[in-house]
Amino acid sequence: MTDYRRLRVALLGAGAVGSQVAALLRKHGDELADRAGAALDLVGIAVRNPDAPRDVDLPRELFTTDAEELIVGADIVIELMGGIEPAREQILLALGSGADVVTANKALLATHGPEIFDAADQVGASVYYEAAAAGAIPIIRPLRDSLAGDRVQRIMGIVNGTTNYILDRMDREGSDFGDVLADAQALGYAEADPTADIEGYDAAQKAAILASLAFHTAVPLEAVHREGITQVDKQMMDAARHAGFVIKLLAVCERLTGQPLENGAESPTGEAISVRVYPALIPREHPLASVHGANNAVFVQAEAAGNLMFYGAGAGGVQTASAVLGDVVSAARRHIAGGVGVGESTRANLPVLPIGRVTTRYQITLEVSDEPGVLATVAGTLSDGRVSIATVEQTVITEGNGEPGVARIVIGTHRALEQDLSETVDRLAASGVVGRVVSVLRVEGD
Ligand code: NAP
Repeated sequence: MTDYRRLRVALLGAGAVGSQVAALLRKHGDELADRAGAALDLVGIAVRNPDAPRDVDLPRELFTTDAEELIVGADIVIELMGGIEPAREQILLALGSGADVVTANKALLATHGPEIFDAADQVGASVYYEAAAAGAIPIIRPLRDSLAGDRVQRIMGIVNGTTNYILDRMDREGSDFGDVLADAQALGYAEADPTADIEGYDAAQKAAILASLAFHTAVPLEAVHREGITQVDKQMMDAARHAGFVIKLLAVCERLTGQPLENGAESPTGEAISVRVYPALIPREHPLASVHGANNAVFVQAEAAGNLMFYGAGAGGVQTASAVLGDVVSAARRHIAGGVGVGESTRANLPVLPIGRVTTRYQITLEVSDEPGVLATVAGTLSDGRVSIATVEQTVITEGNGEPGVARIVIGTHRALEQDLSETVDRLAASGVVGRVVSVLRVEGD
């Protein structure tokens, strides 16, 4: 074996991901050394309980509860504990002690990213986080490096495996949300408390990370518009299928040009961005429609490169460990090469538009009284609200037997401003002819 310089690697956390990282580092140490140009010595693993059972066999003497002692003196610190504290404090300690940091912690980066990247800049260190956005899928490096010479226009991502698993089964089997969620919990695809997944918090964290990178702008988590999938029911799924769509929880990060900001202000460069997470209709022929089960995919549209699709496992201990180890090799190369690490570029500093300023197409499903003049009232209300109709389909769902029955109207709109659309839907609901607004869904990807 080549006589490489030895680097001290400290691991914080040995759960689903950390235990696999430790095992692979030990198993493939020689190969990784050849790729990194440095021997990677796993010097210790900080956990809460060193005697807890692990997914893989690891020597007991590697475990410690003293993370600080492990961090000081390490060349590379891999943070796989998750959560905000003590992860944040310990990453800052690692950077301050001259280590490069690898982390998969989306919650931390989406909330404290600027603080961590600033701390790295100040000491010339690097923070690697390939596993923080879509598990095993390489997307951070493509955005940061491969597309550094291009201009990203839009990212549409299925970045949460749990919700994709639920929506995919609802679509394919016609099952109910609650039944599939219970199954997903039993199979380990969903947590006992599924809030972070089904309410879109996890996807919003990843959207903030992806948008920050893609648009060279620090995107705070609060600027990400977030809706989850708990409102999606069997009826909406059936209607989507009937109209040639599938419902997916999408993270959409978009560059917009010539959009007025709040109070009529304009962006200094004429550009702004929108970052949003919601269940949306996408055409069944779109590449994202064929992302099944718990898989993730990120569809990137760039000015010169055109359309790119990144697809694979968005979670899983060993799959995520692959992305983490890729980062460890990069960190080792940088550590050996020396010099200042390349920081995050946030120089574009584009304004993030509120959801009301975004334009998309919509599909509005209404239950109305089945009598003459109703369609004209609905059409008139939409037109008054600057929402232009592209398609209308009316189906009688209850015959009236002398009285007016109930009809369902599905309206596809041209692109409309979200603010106009939501005000118009409120007016429709109050119009007296609409019995129920069944659903309002955005249409993306056409
Ligand atoms: P996990 O299974 O819950 O494991 C967490 C590990 O961190 C455990 O070993 C735990 O110690 C240790 N730990 C937690 N708090 C600690 C503290 N205060 N001090 C010392 N050790 C502490 O987590 P995971 O699923 O591996 O996830 C790790 C990170 O990867 C998270 O940021 C997560 O978002 C990210 N990630 C995970 C996946 C995935 O598929 N799981 C995918 C992408 C990204 P004990 O073992 O002693 O309890």
